[in-house]
Amino acid sequence: MTNLIPCPNLIGGEWATVSGVATAPVYNPSIGVVIAETPLCGADVVDQAVAAAARAFPSWMETPPVERARILFRLKVMLEAEFEALARSVTLEHGKTLVEARGDVRRGLENIEFACGAPSLLMGESAENIARGIDCDSIRQPLGVVAGITPFNFPAMVPLWMWPIAIACGNTFLLKPSEKVPLTAIRIAELATEAGLPPGVLNVVHGGRAAVDAILAHPRIQAVSFVGSTPVAREIHRIGTANGKRVQAAGGAKNFVIVMPDADVTPSATGILEAAFGCAGERCMAGSTAITIGKAADTLLPKLVEIVSQIKVGPADRDPEAQMGAVITRQHADHVCSLISQAEAAGACPLTDGRTTQVASAPDGFFVGPTVLDHVRPDMITMKEEVFGPVLNVVRMDDLDAAIQLANSSAYGNGAAIFTRSGKAAREFRHRVQAGMVGINIGVPAPMAFFPFSGWQASFFGDLHLQGRESVAFFTRQKVTTTRWFSYGEGSIWADR
Ligand code: NAD
Repeated sequence: MTNLIPCPNLIGGEWATVSGVATAPVYNPSIGVVIAETPLCGADVVDQAVAAAARAFPSWMETPPVERARILFRLKVMLEAEFEALARSVTLEHGKTLVEARGDVRRGLENIEFACGAPSLLMGESAENIARGIDCDSIRQPLGVVAGITPFNFPAMVPLWMWPIAIACGNTFLLKPSEKVPLTAIRIAELATEAGLPPGVLNVVHGGRAAVDAILAHPRIQAVSFVGSTPVAREIHRIGTANGKRVQAAGGAKNFVIVMPDADVTPSATGILEAAFGCAGERCMAGSTAITIGKAADTLLPKLVEIVSQIKVGPADRDPEAQMGAVITRQHADHVCSLISQAEAAGACPLTDGRTTQVASAPDGFFVGPTVLDHVRPDMITMKEEVFGPVLNVVRMDDLDAAIQLANSSAYGNGAAIFTRSGKAAREFRHRVQAGMVGINIGVPAPMAFFPFSGWQASFFGDLHLQGRESVAFFTRQKVTTTRWFSYGEGSIWADR
C-alpha cells in the first residue's frame, strides 16, 4: 500500500492531513487495489469545520450575489479545462467507464452553471398597493452554515448538486463526501479555492457515521442535504428535523420501465439497456425492472439478449473499449451475485448471467456482468431490494393497468419510464404512475440541473428537492417586508402641537 493518494480535509481554507484516526479504504475497483485511505473524522473535526464556516459566513453573506457568481463562473472554466482529468479521477475511484465519468462531471458542471444564475434566482417578489398606499416585497436570505452528505455513485455530480447552489445563495458549507470516493470531491474543492472562494466558505471533512452524527447534532448547522440509501436517508431526515434543521434527503430507488407491444424494438432495447446497465446499475435512476406487456417480450427479449451479450465488461481505468466497468467493492459484487442466485433459486431464469463474467486483463477487479433475469415475480428478492448492480428483472404482464399497479406497489418513487407509440398509453402512464421523474421513450429520465430531482415516497424525505428552484428555496429563507410612507407631517403625533 505505498503511494497512497492523500485525502486531506479542507477547513478554513487550509488543507490538513489527519492522522491517528481509523480509516476506510478507497479502491480502484477496476483492479481491486487500495489507492487511498479516508480518515474517519469525528465530532472534534466537524466542530472545527463548522467554526470555520461560521467565521466565514458574515462576510460571505454580505458579498453581492453577482460577485459570488463570478467565482463560480471562474470555477466552471477551470473545471472545463480539467474536464478529462476529473473524469479519469471519477473512473479511478468509482470504476465506471470514462464515457460515464464524463457524464458525471458534465452533470455536475451544469449545476454550477445553474448556480451562476444566483443574482436572478435570488430575486424576490413585490406587489404594489396590497392595501391603499402600502406595498409588499420579499427577499431571500441565506440560512448560515449548511452541510451536505453524499453517496459513492456520482463522485463529481452529487456534491455539485449541493454546495455550488448553497454558497451561491450566501451560505457557507461543510461537505462530507462518501468515504468510498473522496478524491474527485477533493480536487474540485481545490479548484474552488483556486477560483477565489474565500477561506471557510467551503469546507470538506471526511468520515463515516460519526461525522454524520456530529453534523446532525451540531447546533450551528441550519440545514442538511443528504443523498444516499433509503434507510440512512430516512434516519437523517428524522434526526435532522428533530434537531430543528431543514433536511432534504434523497434515498434509494426501484425504477420500472414498461414496454408496450407497439414500442419500437431497437430504441426500447437500447433504452432499457442504458437504464439497467449504465454505471453498472449503480444509479438511483437505474431501470432495474422491465415490464413487458403482451407480446412485447417476444420481440424485445431476443434483441435485448443479443445486445447485452456484446457488452464488453472491463477495467475502465485502462481499457478504453470497456463498455461497463466494475462495481464499487468486492463485497458489493458478491452481494449482487448472491441476489441473482436467490432469484434464480426462486424461479427466475437468467438469460444472461453476470456471475460468470471473467475479466482476464483485471482478475482482481470487482466485476459483475450484465444480467437479464426473465420470468421474475414481485415476491423475488431482486424485485424487493434495490440491487444497485447490473441486474435487469423482466416481468411479463398482460396489460398496462396491471403494470402500473405493480410499479405503484413499490415503496420507492424515483423514476419510471414507458416505451410506446401510443400517446394514449403514455398519457395514462404519466398520469397514474407514482414516481416523481417520468420518461416517455427515454430510459433514464434524470432531470437537468434547472429542474428538481424529484423523487417521491421512500426515494425522498423532505419538502424541497435538490436541483433547480427548489434548491434555491431550500438554501434560503424569505423575508417579507410591508411598507407604508407618509407625507411629511401626515399622521405625525407632533402635528397638532
Ligand atoms: P449510503 O446510504 O450507504 O451512504 C451515503 C452517505 O451516508 C455516505 O456519505 C456515508 O458515509 C453515510 N452513511 C452511511 N451509512 C450511514 C449511517 N448508518 N449513518 C449515517 N451516515 C451514514 O449510500 P451509498 O451506498 O453511498 O450510495 C448508494 C445509495 O444512494 C443508493 O441507495 C442510491 O439509490 C442512492 N442514491 C440516491 C440518489 C437520489 O437522488 N435519490 C442519487 C444517488 C444515489
